[in-house]
Amino acid sequence: MERFDGSFTQQEPIPEAGIAAALAVLRHGRLHRYNTAPGELAETALLEEEFAAFTGARYCLAVASGGYAMGCALRALQVRPGEPVLTNAFTLAPVPGAIASVGARPVFIETTWNLTIDLDHLERMARETGARLLMLSHMRGHLADMEALMALCNRLGVTVIEDCAHTMGAAWNGVASGRFGAIGCYSMQTYKHINAGEGGFLITDDAELAARAVLLSGSYMLYARHRAAPPAEVFDRIRLDVPNVSGRMDNLRAAILRPQIALLDDRRARWNRLYRVLEEGLAATPGLRLTERPAAETYVASSFQFLLPDFGANRMRAFVTGCAARGVELKWFGAPEPVAFTSRYEHWRYADPQPLPQTDRVLAGLVDMRLPLTFTPEDAALIARIIRAEVLRVGQAEVPAKVADENAGAAAIPLAD
Ligand SMILES: *Cc1c(COP(=O)(O)O)cnc(C)c1O
Repeated sequence: MERFDGSFTQQEPIPEAGIAAALAVLRHGRLHRYNTAPGELAETALLEEEFAAFTGARYCLAVASGGYAMGCALRALQVRPGEPVLTNAFTLAPVPGAIASVGARPVFIETTWNLTIDLDHLERMARETGARLLMLSHMRGHLADMEALMALCNRLGVTVIEDCAHTMGAAWNGVASGRFGAIGCYSMQTYKHINAGEGGFLITDDAELAARAVLLSGSYMLYARHRAAPPAEVFDRIRLDVPNVSGRMDNLRAAILRPQIALLDDRRARWNRLYRVLEEGLAATPGLRLTERPAAETYVASSFQFLLPDFGANRMRAFVTGCAARGVELKWFGAPEPVAFTSRYEHWRYADPQPLPQTDRVLAGLVDMRLPLTFTPEDAALIARIIRAEVLRVGQAEVPAKVADENAGAAAIPLAD
């Protein structure tokens, strides 16, 4: 019986250029972004300029985390306590968490079989709640039809914030993810597409939103040291009205990140190669459903999802346990209790309870797998063979009454994604 013995959580090292730049920052000691020698440009300011150029956005702010970027975006849009904010039911905890952090109320929207937001339900809930904001999560890198979504939101008067934690380097019809909404948010946490341990970006073309975000992030009136930011006049109008909610990026992490932006295109190609090997290996597996990737979507496959829509809970447990025993770490989003990052909407009890039958059907059979770039195409082929064999085995077996250890297969799971 084949076994896989690679690690699903091992990232690639930081590029040598990033290590050298980080050492230089450590040696001069000016880690705070506004602590610059005369004439010096801070690593953080340069990083923002470079990421703005990468996405084509006018303005970019680097912050402490992706979650901070989303909360900052909501604050910049002046969300009010108790205000409803539409968001995907299928997403990760920092998304409803960012909404809750500003005292607003997450309103969850149903999930399609392709793991994107359901536009009909979005329209219905926008009308029902009168919400003026959508926190759109491109969860696991699956992009909705962005032209249709933006047309709908424009018609409804809904402003869109994009959560691009899994779509840095992705695009829809050639337009970078993060460039459709009023604000795009990104994460540079270790399991995302560029790695500084922690970090986030906020991009926008709107000068006032950009100025608000800079002031919110804790600029101590030193905003003139930003480069991918609007001119001083824009700040002058609002600088005394916007509170400081510190969440800055520092020069050490910026130094680590700068050389990684240029690697994004190559990383996308390598990720997608692994993805295609898995897709090929799993195609035509009875009972297994792959997500469709529309031609308009340029995706970055840093993870892989598939569905076993008719398995039911006991078979799902047996399947995840069987794969884990052969070294393949999978996450099941349908488990009754959250395991590591697989919590789902009904576990977020700070939000109002909401019936979401379509999302329930999708999550009940949804399997998720990390795809680190330390895997080779041969690894991906082996993993696909193991998954396929386990789907066939568990699919043919009598339905087990209950698997002994409900969380088996989730034991060695990392804490965050
Ligand atoms: C990781 C992640 C974020 C933000 O993450 P941080 O850990 O706060 O940087 C936001 N949305 C999704 C879907 C994520 O996976």
